[in-house]
Amino acid sequence: SVDRPRPLVAGNWKMNGLKSSAKVLDEIHAGYTPGLKAKVDLAVCPPATLVGPLALQAVGSRVAIGGQDCHAKESGAFTGNVSAEMLADAGATYVIVGHSERRQYHGEKDVDVCAKAVAAHRAGLTAIVCIGETREEREAGRALSVVKKQLRGSTPVDSNSQNLVVAYEPVWAIGTGLTPTSADVAEVHALIRDELKRLVGKADSARVRILYGGSVKPSNATELMAVENVNGALVGGASLVAADFLAIAGAY
Ligand code: PGA
Repeated sequence: SVDRPRPLVAGNWKMNGLKSSAKVLDEIHAGYTPGLKAKVDLAVCPPATLVGPLALQAVGSRVAIGGQDCHAKESGAFTGNVSAEMLADAGATYVIVGHSERRQYHGEKDVDVCAKAVAAHRAGLTAIVCIGETREEREAGRALSVVKKQLRGSTPVDSNSQNLVVAYEPVWAIGTGLTPTSADVAEVHALIRDELKRLVGKADSARVRILYGGSVKPSNATELMAVENVNGALVGGASLVAADFLAIAGAY
């Protein structure tokens, strides 16, 4: 339809990447052909140490750079943290918030994720808000209710299709090689689209990108990206290899 959003393929490098990783961005840049640019947006989210250097390197390319997390406050006595304003100052335009690894290893709750998304918006960044059920929750038949609750709790009221991207990442699919069926992905993404009507209004809800994440690879990207309401991918492991990342983007 007319409103169908332009897909976004975002790479989440997690705690991987050194100065030498500049060559991965070079390869992505080289492979981001006019044909691919016409179809899909690309973003790379490196560790915080590389946001500045990679953002400088990406100037003049259409590859966007993002952070993987931010603090809710702009600045202050928060040793070890990085603010959304700092990421923006370093050249980022996106920031991932509420990744399941942050929720699991750093105890982040929906309310914390929401505060980080507010900070992202305050700094002019687009927040990639991650939600997704655990294996136990899916097996208990609670996937839809968990995703709905997380979406409602993690998404700020000032969200719109420009400053919000939603990433559905079933925890059990992250880094495991397992993926949900197309039917299961379609069911969750339809629920998210429906909830977005309430969150950003009916007209704008159709334009919000809803990414699928969790073991996306070149071999399964075509099937996953063809699912209704899947407007791109959040890619972990496969985003560390430029050829794989580009092949996933090419699935569009
Ligand atoms: P994966 O990670 O692609 O390695 O499963 C996805 C993510 O955690 O964003």
